[in-house]
Amino acid sequence: MPDRAVFLDRDGTINEEVDYLGSVDQLRFIVGAEAAIARLNQTALKVIVFTNQAGIARGYFSPEVVERIHTHMEERLSSHGAHLHALYYCPHHPSEGIGPYRLDCNCRKPKPGMLHQAARELKIDLCRSFVVGDKLSDLKAGHAAGCRLVLVRTGYGREAEAKLADLPFQPDYVAADLPEASSWILQQVMGGS
Ligand SMILES: [Mg+2]
Ligand SMILES: [Zn+2]
Repeated sequence: MPDRAVFLDRDGTINEEVDYLGSVDQLRFIVGAEAAIARLNQTALKVIVFTNQAGIARGYFSPEVVERIHTHMEERLSSHGAHLHALYYCPHHPSEGIGPYRLDCNCRKPKPGMLHQAARELKIDLCRSFVVGDKLSDLKAGHAAGCRLVLVRTGYGREAEAKLADLPFQPDYVAADLPEASSWILQQVMGGS
């Protein structure tokens, strides 16, 4: 049977939003995020990050910088007994920058490409999985993939919440932050839904 997953946006959901996080020193975890991921890790849920990193297309930083930040993030999580099963990032932008990253790709959120890729590679049942993010683009990607949706009020979450009425669908839950989102997800999973 395919696995269930929790897909986490990165900036504004796991770590503080700083607009184009381009170095390890700028990485600040949202309070309780490591412990929240550790709690999810105690279940059968896979925890997967999916993040737009158009700073690469824009020439603000290289893929190597993003990879270094992700390595650092995983080390920090590991020191809290937490881990990620996979990290996916989209380096593209449809109209900004030059070179191979200027591309109207299928992975940039709000498109669901990263979710479909993870489902293929890691055998995940998207309809029984969750997406957590602070932007409408996270919710739209999750909705397009058939996932259950949690908006967090950290990062750009309050701005997104104010625009929820513009959406043709609604998130299943709005949480203060990742720890609260994780608690809600755990309740759903333990409750058998
Ligand atoms: Mg975000
Ligand atoms: Zn892309």
